[in-house]
Amino acid sequence: MSDPRHRFGPPKDPGRDDPQAPPELRSDRRSRALPRPCPACGSPRASVFGAVAPGAGGRSTLRCADCLLVYVDPVPKEATRPEAYGADYYEPWQGREEHARVRLWRRRLSLVEERSSRGALLDVGCGDGLFLAIARDAGWSVEGIEFSPEGARRASKRLGRPVAVGHLARERLLRGPFDVLTLWHVLEHLEEPAPMLDAARVRLRPGGLVVVAVPNLDNLPMQWAYRVARGRPLPLYEAGAREPHLSHFSPTTLAALLERQGFGSVEIRADRCALTVAKRLIDAGAACLSFVTRRLLTDAMVAFARRPR
Ligand SMILES: [Zn+2]
Repeated sequence: MSDPRHRFGPPKDPGRDDPQAPPELRSDRRSRALPRPCPACGSPRASVFGAVAPGAGGRSTLRCADCLLVYVDPVPKEATRPEAYGADYYEPWQGREEHARVRLWRRRLSLVEERSSRGALLDVGCGDGLFLAIARDAGWSVEGIEFSPEGARRASKRLGRPVAVGHLARERLLRGPFDVLTLWHVLEHLEEPAPMLDAARVRLRPGGLVVVAVPNLDNLPMQWAYRVARGRPLPLYEAGAREPHLSHFSPTTLAALLERQGFGSVEIRADRCALTVAKRLIDAGAACLSFVTRRLLTDAMVAFARRPR
């Protein structure tokens, strides 16, 4: 890996290999035959890593021996279907979460605007279109694409015009090239994150900005809090979870994947996206700890990277 600019300095190896960590948080280094190669680098070498919730149906989470990505194996196919993100998924976003979400999207937009002048923005996985509406009102020319028909329907209604439904790589109607392409908490839900980044890169103008937010595997304070509250390790996979995550990135693995897919000038910082008071408090503690340790420990992170000119 070349030299990505991490706001908190180059992160160390993912924390759960720390010999000081409790045994249940350390890697299980037993290797096994793999039916699924690493979805980031294609390596067939991996070992079981981290905890899954009871009832995972024989699934486990593996860590690639080459790029250190952690991923679910085998893929639960029901988690990759658009029906997984139907009306039930979007309902909690309305009502009491709405105001917190508006504040969150404004904060995220200001991070984008610190790095790009206003222009054409494509939000991939735009959900109900709230971010697009806020960006449009701020002066951006916006387009969205959403793989859930329910999400696209809601976004179309909010924006007052059609929003593309489907996969970025196959969509032909979007204009572009774009100055900014955002992937807010999309990559961790995909069976194959690397082709999505390839598709994102070709939609950007040279020098354009890609924004990739994902949960942070190095979220040690959240893991500690979960352990205290529930008496068991925070699972990396839970069958039937509302938002099952198929890949788990650390700052190191996210930066490496972006560079492998042709992006440069990688910068990673905290994505402060907690909506509940308890999670916000834990994340505030994590941010302080990150500042002291120079290691990004918040529950989520956002990467900014450029398509080379
Ligand atoms: Zn790998």
